[in-house]
Amino acid sequence: MRLDDGSYYFDCNATIPMKRKAVKAFLDGEKMAFANPSSPYFAGMKSKEVLESSRANILRKLRFEGELVFTSSATEANNLVILSAAKNEKIKKIIISKIEHPSVYELRQIVKSFGKEIIEIGVDKDGVVDLEQLENAISSQSFVSILTAHNETGVIQPVGEIARICERKMALFHTDAVQGFGKIELPFGETNPNAITISSHKIGGPKGVGALAFDKKIELIPMICGGGQEKGLRSSTESIPLIFSFSCAVDLIDTYRFSKLKEIRDEMEDNLSQKFGLTIYGKNSERLPNTSFFSIRGLDGREAQRILNENKIYVGTGSACHGAGKNLPKVLTEMGFSNEEYPIRVSISSLTKKRDIEKFTDIFCSLF
Ligand code: PLP
Repeated sequence: MRLDDGSYYFDCNATIPMKRKAVKAFLDGEKMAFANPSSPYFAGMKSKEVLESSRANILRKLRFEGELVFTSSATEANNLVILSAAKNEKIKKIIISKIEHPSVYELRQIVKSFGKEIIEIGVDKDGVVDLEQLENAISSQSFVSILTAHNETGVIQPVGEIARICERKMALFHTDAVQGFGKIELPFGETNPNAITISSHKIGGPKGVGALAFDKKIELIPMICGGGQEKGLRSSTESIPLIFSFSCAVDLIDTYRFSKLKEIRDEMEDNLSQKFGLTIYGKNSERLPNTSFFSIRGLDGREAQRILNENKIYVGTGSACHGAGKNLPKVLTEMGFSNEEYPIRVSISSLTKKRDIEKFTDIFCSLF
């Protein structure tokens, strides 16, 4: 997408700007419902009403039967559900994939400190979680957390099948759906996971708000204690402007329109492939339609990012959380790539025009 200052932004899996209607909803939320939703008078009741209708709206859009707790981010929601499982005496084993986002993956040590076994499931060369390994690892006292779509490769995981395996084995299943929600119809099929994490700023809502949807089988243990808001699961005064605006961004989700991004993403990959030796990660898998993660023979992605930046073109080199590191992103080594050049991630959104991506390809080809 083209920014107001003429620069081009192609790092939409990191975040996107708030949609205009979401900004309006933020301001409206503050205007119509500034009062504390816990206050017992009419103004407080109005805020409570907006809070609860936003909650119900997001649950409806998720097609999830259960409850939803608002958090400050998806990171917090992931921490809440995983650490609750770690503290739960009925759970003996926590199973994650080797390619989870750090907000899940980096909890391994804490999980172990609660005496739980932690098992990491690998992926194949196409970036898909190994279901056989998973099935063999699960027992009824397991809690499984596997992401819906990978933030770097964009590879969509077989979460519907995972949900069914977990149900059959009487294990609990949580999915971090941050990158899938709003981009694709969540591929759960008949069986919903027991808990789902989502984030507002990835879908054009404000930063600083996320949510965890969860069913009756999930027992949450609060990490933030105080006034007992969010049914005691997450104390602190709820931010109605953030939550109302998040709910508005959810209303604006249009996965059909988003699916069309595949055409311009594929065109870009084809055009770049004609000029460069391109390795596109996850190309043989089902991928998010907006994501391209590739290496170019003889070109270090970190250097490419720096030069593109000087030309006011912003791309990623992997997860924004890490920035570019010294080593290849973990997901690539897990997929069996070790001698590749440092990759580049181009991720677009419904605000990206065909001409933007054509401009990107032209400039890219002229620079390198
Ligand atoms: N999970 C995934 C898969 C992500 O891509 C991200 C952000 O990049 C997060 C979790 C964290 O989201 P938040 O920024 O809301 O904490």
